[in-house]
Amino acid sequence: MVSQLTDAFARKFYYLRLSITDVCNFRCNYCLPDGYKPTGNKQFLTLDEIRRVSSAFAELGTEKIRLTGGEPSLRRDFVDIIATIRENAAIKTLAVTTNGYRMARDIQHWRDAGLTAVNVSVDSLDARQFHAITGEDKFTQVMAGIDAAFEAGFSKVKVNTVLMRSVNDHSLNTFMNWIKDRPIQLRFIELMETGDGSDIFRKHHVSGEVIRDKLLAQGWQRKTQDRSAGPAQVFVHSDYQGEIGLIMPYEKDFCETCNRLRVSAVGNLHLCLFGEQGIGLRDLLGDDEHREALIARIQSGLKSKKQTHFLHQGNSGITQNLSFIGG
Ligand code: SAM
Ligand code: SF4
Repeated sequence: MVSQLTDAFARKFYYLRLSITDVCNFRCNYCLPDGYKPTGNKQFLTLDEIRRVSSAFAELGTEKIRLTGGEPSLRRDFVDIIATIRENAAIKTLAVTTNGYRMARDIQHWRDAGLTAVNVSVDSLDARQFHAITGEDKFTQVMAGIDAAFEAGFSKVKVNTVLMRSVNDHSLNTFMNWIKDRPIQLRFIELMETGDGSDIFRKHHVSGEVIRDKLLAQGWQRKTQDRSAGPAQVFVHSDYQGEIGLIMPYEKDFCETCNRLRVSAVGNLHLCLFGEQGIGLRDLLGDDEHREALIARIQSGLKSKKQTHFLHQGNSGITQNLSFIGG
Protein backbone atom coordinates (compact mmCIF):
# COMPACT_ATOMS: atom_id res chain seq x y z
CA MET A 1 0.00 0.00 0.00
CA VAL A 2 1.27 3.48 -0.83
CA SER A 3 1.64 5.70 2.24
CA GLN A 4 -0.98 8.42 2.55
CA LEU A 5 1.35 10.15 4.93
CA THR A 6 3.42 12.51 2.82
CA ASP A 7 4.95 15.74 4.07
CA ALA A 8 5.63 19.07 2.37
CA PHE A 9 9.05 17.78 1.25
CA ALA A 10 7.59 14.68 -0.47
CA ARG A 11 8.87 12.33 2.22
CA LYS A 12 6.63 9.32 2.80
CA PHE A 13 6.11 7.78 6.22
CA TYR A 14 5.87 4.02 6.53
CA TYR A 15 7.28 3.67 10.01
CA LEU A 16 5.83 4.59 13.41
CA ARG A 17 7.75 4.52 16.67
CA LEU A 18 5.23 4.11 19.44
CA SER A 19 6.27 4.71 23.02
CA ILE A 20 4.15 2.82 25.53
CA THR A 21 5.71 3.95 28.82
CA ASP A 22 8.20 6.49 30.14
CA VAL A 23 9.17 4.21 33.01
CA CYS A 24 12.57 2.53 32.97
CA ASN A 25 14.40 0.26 35.38
CA PHE A 26 17.89 1.16 34.06
CA ARG A 27 19.87 4.35 34.64
CA CYS A 28 21.92 4.74 31.47
CA ASN A 29 24.27 7.64 32.03
CA TYR A 30 23.35 9.35 28.73
CA CYS A 31 19.59 8.93 29.23
CA LEU A 32 18.29 8.64 32.82
CA PRO A 33 21.42 8.88 34.99
CA ASP A 34 19.32 9.33 38.14
CA GLY A 35 16.73 6.76 37.16
CA TYR A 36 13.13 7.33 36.16
CA LYS A 37 11.35 9.96 38.25
CA PRO A 38 7.57 10.04 37.91
CA THR A 39 6.19 13.51 37.16
CA GLY A 40 2.57 14.39 37.95
CA ASN A 41 -0.10 11.82 37.42
CA LYS A 42 0.85 10.66 33.94
CA GLN A 43 -1.38 7.94 32.51
CA PHE A 44 0.17 6.02 29.65
CA LEU A 45 -1.84 4.89 26.63
CA THR A 46 -4.24 2.05 27.43
CA LEU A 47 -4.52 -1.09 25.35
CA ASP A 48 -7.66 0.26 23.63
CA GLU A 49 -5.97 3.57 22.87
CA ILE A 50 -3.01 1.66 21.42
CA ARG A 51 -5.44 -0.36 19.28
CA ARG A 52 -7.03 2.82 17.91
CA VAL A 53 -3.84 4.71 17.21
CA SER A 54 -2.11 1.74 15.55
CA SER A 55 -5.15 0.99 13.42
CA ALA A 56 -5.34 4.64 12.25
CA PHE A 57 -1.68 4.58 11.23
CA ALA A 58 -2.18 1.20 9.51
CA GLU A 59 -4.99 2.71 7.45
CA LEU A 60 -2.68 5.56 6.47
CA GLY A 61 -0.12 3.14 5.03
CA THR A 62 2.15 2.44 8.00
CA GLU A 63 3.92 -0.91 7.50
CA LYS A 64 6.16 -1.02 10.51
CA ILE A 65 5.68 -0.16 14.18
CA ARG A 66 8.40 -0.14 16.77
CA LEU A 67 7.45 -0.31 20.45
CA THR A 68 9.74 1.71 22.63
CA GLY A 69 9.85 3.67 25.87
CA GLY A 70 11.19 3.97 28.64
CA GLU A 71 11.41 0.24 28.91
CA PRO A 72 8.43 -1.15 26.97
CA SER A 73 8.68 -4.64 28.45
CA LEU A 74 7.85 -3.20 31.88
CA ARG A 75 4.21 -2.97 30.76
CA ARG A 76 2.28 -5.86 32.32
CA ASP A 77 0.07 -6.01 29.23
CA PHE A 78 3.05 -6.06 26.84
CA VAL A 79 2.02 -9.38 25.25
CA ASP A 80 -1.53 -8.08 24.72
CA ILE A 81 -0.15 -4.89 23.16
CA ILE A 82 1.83 -6.97 20.65
CA ALA A 83 -1.18 -9.13 19.77
CA THR A 84 -3.46 -6.10 19.45
CA ILE A 85 -1.17 -4.28 17.03
CA ARG A 86 -0.75 -7.41 14.91
CA GLU A 87 -4.53 -7.50 14.41
CA ASN A 88 -3.75 -4.90 11.71
CA ALA A 89 -2.86 -6.95 8.62
CA ALA A 90 -1.02 -3.93 7.15
CA ILE A 91 1.54 -3.93 9.96
CA LYS A 92 4.04 -6.40 8.53
CA THR A 93 6.83 -5.59 10.95
CA LEU A 94 6.32 -5.16 14.68
CA ALA A 95 9.58 -4.52 16.49
CA VAL A 96 10.60 -3.63 20.02
CA THR A 97 13.58 -1.69 21.33
CA THR A 98 14.41 -3.01 24.77
CA ASN A 99 17.18 -2.95 27.35
CA GLY A 100 16.79 -6.73 27.23
CA TYR A 101 16.39 -7.48 30.90
CA ARG A 102 13.16 -9.49 30.38
CA MET A 103 14.12 -11.21 27.15
CA ALA A 104 15.52 -14.46 28.53
CA ARG A 105 12.27 -15.02 30.39
CA ASP A 106 9.68 -13.67 27.98
CA ILE A 107 10.82 -13.46 24.39
CA GLN A 108 9.10 -16.66 23.34
CA HIS A 109 5.77 -15.18 24.52
CA TRP A 110 6.46 -11.97 22.61
CA ARG A 111 7.19 -13.92 19.46
CA ASP A 112 4.13 -16.13 19.88
CA ALA A 113 2.01 -12.97 20.23
CA GLY A 114 3.33 -11.65 16.90
CA LEU A 115 6.53 -9.69 17.50
CA THR A 116 8.67 -9.90 14.35
CA ALA A 117 11.88 -8.06 15.25
CA VAL A 118 13.91 -7.14 18.29
CA ASN A 119 16.54 -4.46 19.04
CA VAL A 120 18.50 -4.77 22.27
CA SER A 121 20.69 -2.04 23.71
CA VAL A 122 24.20 -3.18 24.63
CA ASP A 123 26.80 -0.43 24.97
CA SER A 124 29.66 -2.63 26.14
CA LEU A 125 30.68 -6.27 25.93
CA ASP A 126 32.52 -5.93 29.22
CA ALA A 127 30.22 -6.78 32.14
CA ARG A 128 31.76 -4.21 34.47
CA GLN A 129 31.59 -1.42 31.93
CA PHE A 130 28.01 -2.42 31.06
CA HIS A 131 27.16 -2.05 34.75
CA ALA A 132 28.88 1.33 34.95
CA ILE A 133 26.96 2.68 31.94
CA THR A 134 23.49 1.30 32.73
CA GLY A 135 23.60 1.31 36.54
CA GLU A 136 22.51 -2.35 36.45
CA ASP A 137 24.60 -5.51 36.83
CA LYS A 138 22.62 -7.34 34.15
CA PHE A 139 25.10 -8.02 31.36
CA THR A 140 24.85 -11.82 31.67
CA GLN A 141 21.06 -11.66 31.75
CA VAL A 142 20.93 -9.49 28.63
CA MET A 143 23.34 -11.78 26.77
CA ALA A 144 21.18 -14.78 27.76
CA GLY A 145 18.23 -12.81 26.38
CA ILE A 146 19.92 -12.49 22.99
CA ASP A 147 20.56 -16.26 22.91
CA ALA A 148 16.92 -16.80 23.88
CA ALA A 149 15.81 -14.64 20.94
CA PHE A 150 17.61 -16.93 18.50
CA GLU A 151 16.19 -20.00 20.26
CA ALA A 152 12.71 -18.50 20.01
CA GLY A 153 13.10 -18.36 16.23
CA PHE A 154 14.28 -14.81 15.42
CA SER A 155 16.73 -15.20 12.54
CA LYS A 156 18.42 -11.88 13.28
CA VAL A 157 18.77 -9.64 16.33
CA LYS A 158 19.68 -5.96 16.16
CA VAL A 159 21.85 -4.51 18.88
CA ASN A 160 22.04 -0.77 19.59
CA THR A 161 25.33 0.57 20.89
CA VAL A 162 25.66 4.25 21.74
CA LEU A 163 29.10 5.26 20.53
CA MET A 164 31.02 7.13 23.23
CA ARG A 165 34.53 8.55 23.14
CA SER A 166 36.90 6.88 25.63
CA VAL A 167 34.15 4.41 26.59
CA ASN A 168 33.60 2.09 23.64
CA ASP A 169 35.01 3.84 20.58
CA HIS A 170 38.17 1.71 20.77
CA SER A 171 36.25 -1.56 21.03
CA LEU A 172 35.39 -2.02 17.35
CA ASN A 173 37.46 -5.22 17.12
CA THR A 174 35.75 -6.75 20.17
CA PHE A 175 32.33 -5.96 18.70
CA MET A 176 33.39 -7.31 15.29
CA ASN A 177 34.60 -10.60 16.79
CA TRP A 178 31.32 -10.93 18.63
CA ILE A 179 29.25 -10.73 15.42
CA LYS A 180 31.62 -12.78 13.24
CA ASP A 181 29.55 -15.95 13.61
CA ARG A 182 26.31 -14.46 14.89
CA PRO A 183 23.50 -12.99 12.75
CA ILE A 184 23.52 -9.76 14.74
CA GLN A 185 23.21 -6.31 13.18
CA LEU A 186 25.23 -4.16 15.55
CA ARG A 187 24.34 -0.50 15.16
CA PHE A 188 26.51 2.25 16.51
CA ILE A 189 24.37 5.26 17.37
CA GLU A 190 26.10 8.60 17.68
CA LEU A 191 25.47 10.09 21.10
CA MET A 192 22.81 12.79 20.70
CA GLU A 193 22.62 15.93 22.74
CA THR A 194 19.52 16.21 24.89
CA GLY A 195 18.34 18.88 27.32
CA ASP A 196 19.64 16.84 30.28
CA GLY A 197 22.72 15.51 28.55
CA SER A 198 24.88 18.48 27.44
CA ASP A 199 27.84 17.60 29.66
CA ILE A 200 28.02 13.99 28.66
CA PHE A 201 27.59 15.01 25.03
CA ARG A 202 30.53 17.43 25.21
CA LYS A 203 32.68 14.81 26.89
CA HIS A 204 31.80 11.72 24.88
CA HIS A 205 30.32 12.58 21.49
CA VAL A 206 32.32 11.14 18.63
CA SER A 207 31.32 10.97 14.98
CA GLY A 208 30.44 7.60 13.44
CA GLU A 209 32.82 8.56 10.61
CA VAL A 210 35.66 7.08 12.66
CA ILE A 211 33.95 3.69 12.50
CA ARG A 212 32.92 4.10 8.86
CA ASP A 213 36.50 4.83 7.78
CA LYS A 214 37.74 1.72 9.60
CA LEU A 215 35.02 -0.48 8.10
CA LEU A 216 35.68 0.69 4.56
CA ALA A 217 39.43 0.22 5.02
CA GLN A 218 38.77 -3.37 6.10
CA GLY A 219 36.61 -4.23 3.08
CA TRP A 220 33.11 -3.72 4.51
CA GLN A 221 30.54 -2.61 1.93
CA ARG A 222 27.42 -0.47 2.20
CA LYS A 223 24.13 -2.30 1.70
CA THR A 224 20.96 -0.80 0.16
CA GLN A 225 17.87 -0.56 2.37
CA ASP A 226 14.11 -0.89 1.84
CA ARG A 227 11.57 1.93 2.23
CA SER A 228 10.53 1.18 5.81
CA ALA A 229 14.06 0.57 7.06
CA GLY A 230 15.40 2.60 9.96
CA PRO A 231 17.98 5.36 9.67
CA ALA A 232 21.09 3.17 9.81
CA GLN A 233 23.71 2.95 7.06
CA VAL A 234 24.36 -0.79 7.02
CA PHE A 235 27.68 -2.44 6.12
CA VAL A 236 28.35 -6.11 5.29
CA HIS A 237 31.46 -8.25 4.88
CA SER A 238 31.75 -11.74 3.42
CA ASP A 239 33.79 -12.98 6.40
CA TYR A 240 31.10 -11.92 8.88
CA GLN A 241 27.67 -13.32 9.51
CA GLY A 242 26.76 -10.16 11.37
CA GLU A 243 26.34 -6.64 9.96
CA ILE A 244 27.35 -3.22 11.23
CA GLY A 245 25.04 -0.22 11.14
CA LEU A 246 25.82 3.43 11.72
CA ILE A 247 23.26 5.97 12.85
CA MET A 248 24.68 9.43 12.35
CA PRO A 249 22.03 12.08 13.02
CA TYR A 250 24.58 14.91 12.77
CA GLU A 251 25.56 13.97 9.25
CA LYS A 252 24.49 16.37 6.50
CA ASP A 253 21.30 15.14 4.78
CA PHE A 254 20.37 12.71 7.61
CA CYS A 255 16.83 14.13 7.59
CA GLU A 256 16.37 13.76 3.82
CA THR A 257 15.55 10.08 4.18
CA CYS A 258 13.33 10.49 7.24
CA ASN A 259 10.49 7.93 6.99
CA ARG A 260 9.29 7.76 10.59
CA LEU A 261 6.88 9.43 12.94
CA ARG A 262 6.55 9.08 16.68
CA VAL A 263 3.74 8.84 19.17
CA SER A 264 4.65 9.36 22.82
CA ALA A 265 3.36 7.26 25.71
CA VAL A 266 0.80 9.97 26.49
CA GLY A 267 -0.50 10.06 22.94
CA ASN A 268 1.24 13.05 21.37
CA LEU A 269 2.30 12.83 17.74
CA HIS A 270 5.91 13.97 17.36
CA LEU A 271 7.05 14.79 13.86
CA CYS A 272 10.72 14.70 14.83
CA LEU A 273 12.71 13.17 17.68
CA PHE A 274 14.03 16.64 18.33
CA GLY A 275 10.88 18.53 17.57
CA GLU A 276 8.25 20.33 19.46
CA GLN A 277 5.53 19.84 22.06
CA GLY A 278 3.79 17.29 19.91
CA ILE A 279 0.28 17.23 18.47
CA GLY A 280 -2.21 15.82 20.99
CA LEU A 281 -4.15 12.81 19.73
CA ARG A 282 -5.46 11.55 23.02
CA ASP A 283 -8.80 13.34 22.97
CA LEU A 284 -9.58 11.27 19.86
CA LEU A 285 -8.42 7.91 21.21
CA GLY A 286 -11.17 7.31 23.78
CA ASP A 287 -13.66 5.69 21.40
CA ASP A 288 -14.04 4.44 17.83
CA GLU A 289 -16.37 7.28 16.83
CA HIS A 290 -13.45 9.67 16.45
CA ARG A 291 -11.57 7.52 13.96
CA GLU A 292 -12.10 9.83 10.97
CA ALA A 293 -11.08 12.89 12.99
CA LEU A 294 -8.02 11.06 14.27
CA ILE A 295 -6.91 10.19 10.77
CA ALA A 296 -7.50 13.77 9.61
CA ARG A 297 -5.49 15.20 12.52
CA ILE A 298 -2.52 12.93 11.83
CA GLN A 299 -2.56 13.88 8.16
CA SER A 300 -2.89 17.60 8.71
CA GLY A 301 -0.29 17.58 11.50
CA LEU A 302 2.25 16.11 9.13
CA LYS A 303 2.04 19.21 6.95
CA SER A 304 3.95 21.13 9.61
CA LYS A 305 6.90 18.72 9.69
CA LYS A 306 10.12 20.70 9.28
CA GLN A 307 12.73 19.83 6.70
CA THR A 308 15.42 19.09 9.27
CA HIS A 309 16.19 19.03 12.99
CA PHE A 310 18.20 21.83 14.62
CA LEU A 311 20.70 19.71 16.54
CA HIS A 312 23.62 21.33 14.80
CA GLN A 313 22.73 24.59 16.49
CA GLY A 314 22.68 22.79 19.87
CA ASN A 315 18.88 23.01 19.84
CA SER A 316 17.36 19.73 21.00
CA GLY A 317 13.77 20.99 20.93
CA ILE A 318 11.98 19.98 24.13
CA THR A 319 13.74 16.63 24.35
CA GLN A 320 15.15 16.47 27.89
CA ASN A 321 16.14 12.83 27.47
CA LEU A 322 15.17 10.09 25.05
CA SER A 323 13.26 7.94 27.55
CA PHE A 324 10.06 9.92 27.16
CA ILE A 325 9.89 9.68 23.39
CA GLY A 326 11.75 6.46 22.83
CA GLY A 327 14.94 7.37 20.98
N1 SAM B 1 14.82 1.26 27.09
C1 SAM B 1 14.93 0.78 25.77
C2 SAM B 1 16.38 0.65 25.36
O1 SAM B 1 17.24 1.21 26.01
O2 SAM B 1 16.63 -0.02 24.36
C3 SAM B 1 14.18 1.61 24.74
C4 SAM B 1 14.20 3.11 24.90
S1 SAM B 1 15.79 3.87 24.64
C5 SAM B 1 15.40 5.57 24.87
C6 SAM B 1 15.97 3.69 22.86
C7 SAM B 1 17.39 3.83 22.35
O3 SAM B 1 17.81 5.17 22.49
C8 SAM B 1 18.42 2.96 23.07
O4 SAM B 1 19.13 2.18 22.14
C9 SAM B 1 19.33 3.98 23.72
O5 SAM B 1 20.65 3.51 23.80
C10 SAM B 1 19.18 5.16 22.80
N2 SAM B 1 19.51 6.44 23.43
C11 SAM B 1 19.05 6.96 24.59
N3 SAM B 1 19.58 8.18 24.83
C12 SAM B 1 20.42 8.45 23.79
C13 SAM B 1 21.25 9.57 23.43
N4 SAM B 1 21.32 10.65 24.18
N5 SAM B 1 21.95 9.48 22.27
C14 SAM B 1 21.85 8.39 21.47
N6 SAM B 1 21.08 7.32 21.75
C15 SAM B 1 20.36 7.34 22.89
FE1 SF4 C 1 16.22 3.11 30.14
FE2 SF4 C 1 16.67 2.72 27.56
FE3 SF4 C 1 17.07 5.14 28.68
FE4 SF4 C 1 18.72 3.14 29.26
S1 SF4 C 1 18.42 4.08 27.24
S2 SF4 C 1 17.79 4.56 30.75
S3 SF4 C 1 17.38 1.39 29.24
S4 SF4 C 1 15.14 4.14 28.46
